[in-house]
Amino acid sequence: MFDKVLIANRGEIALRIQRACKELGIATVAVHSTADAEAMHVRLADESVCIGPPQASDSYLNIPRLLAACEITGADAVHPGYGFLSENARFAEILEDHNITFIGPSSEHIRIMGDKIAAKETVQRLGIPVVPGSEGGVRGDLEARKVSEAIGYPVLVKAASGGGGRGMKVVHKPEDLSSSMAAARSEAKAAFGDDTVYIEKFLTRPRHIEIQVFGDGQGNAVHLGERDCSLQRRHQKVLEEAPSPALNADSRRRIGETVAKAIGDLGYRSAGTVEFLYEDGQFFFIEMNTRLQVEHPVTEMITGIDLVLEQIRVASGSQLTLTQDDVTFSGHAIECRINAENPRTFRPSPGRITYWHPPGGLGVRVDSGVYQGYSIPPYYDSLIGKLVVHGKTRNECLMRLKRALSEFVIDGIETTIPLFNELIRQPDIANGMYDIHWLEKFLSKP
Ligand code: ADP
Repeated sequence: MFDKVLIANRGEIALRIQRACKELGIATVAVHSTADAEAMHVRLADESVCIGPPQASDSYLNIPRLLAACEITGADAVHPGYGFLSENARFAEILEDHNITFIGPSSEHIRIMGDKIAAKETVQRLGIPVVPGSEGGVRGDLEARKVSEAIGYPVLVKAASGGGGRGMKVVHKPEDLSSSMAAARSEAKAAFGDDTVYIEKFLTRPRHIEIQVFGDGQGNAVHLGERDCSLQRRHQKVLEEAPSPALNADSRRRIGETVAKAIGDLGYRSAGTVEFLYEDGQFFFIEMNTRLQVEHPVTEMITGIDLVLEQIRVASGSQLTLTQDDVTFSGHAIECRINAENPRTFRPSPGRITYWHPPGGLGVRVDSGVYQGYSIPPYYDSLIGKLVVHGKTRNECLMRLKRALSEFVIDGIETTIPLFNELIRQPDIANGMYDIHWLEKFLSKP
């Protein structure tokens, strides 16, 4: 087991990882930018190192500075959290070269899955169903037209190196194809430095259902069920739940087993998420995330399994002790992403939190890195906390969520809490009847 883990992240996820380390008796090192000197993840760590100015490129994304922090503190492992360097294969490689363990998958698997085209080819070979589309990247307009005609409009032009919903363009008719290709290309080039794009059938009313998997890199793998993340704005998740109201035990078992087998065959190590669109009873792979997800707590709430603790164990060389039979599902969980944003315009609302009262009680979990008096810096994403609620049934979970939201008081900044208060009162949400376009339609109503 490791003696000291450096957490190359900030905010709620840095705290989440510290908690797992502490329960394992492992010392923790926080890193921070000058903007984060007063942050909770710094206050609660055993040691902390300032790694640079506010800009992420000079601090949380700066590999030489992170390496120096490891050297100064003698950390023998690094947990990257999500975002920042969590899916950077080069970072994983450099750490291994310095005999520091990267708590995550092998750099090879990060690299494959980071290229959406290579990822699609790989999982298809392993027996996972994918969205119909181009075979590999699409270069010219002629090729784009041929592919789109073959799969039928509407189509979606996507960036091979994409992430965070960027570099995606929906095309409804052939006349728009060429300009959308050009737009997706330049967006992808600007955001990811790679203008490779590919084409997929655009599904008009799917749900986003993702399977949580866990492997030990030695051929053993299990699935931990699904999360339904269909409530999205601009392809970004807003609320997640497990189990999905759209699946039954049999469909869950079938897709779960297919994915777990593929992940075992791949020799995948650590936690991973295989994302699907689900329409008319069929699953279509879209991408795999080779890291811990923001929404991992909903899975923890219904399985009782600490995903970060398992990640640390497996990274230290232990075999997976979990078998598929050990994974049982109990009740229902919902997560709301509490962002420092205007609940209607989603304009970021950084600033000082003058009052902070999180909810409590049975089945209520708040993962957050903020506190009363803390000033949210304007430099990073606007997630300030996650409210995760568990109930024996979906209905109990919804009632508890309603109760927990009513207790949550955050003053001084705007947050997305009022949006969730509205959402849980919608009959479609209460009935679990929503697809990936539901929220955008709801928000566009006056
Ligand atoms: P990113 O890595 O940028 O998040 P994903 O491939 O995971 O991109 O897609 C993000 C979201 O975009 C999905 O959850 C879904 O809402 C939408 N999306 C992606 N592919 C398709 C598709 N073929 N048809 C319809 N919607 C899609």
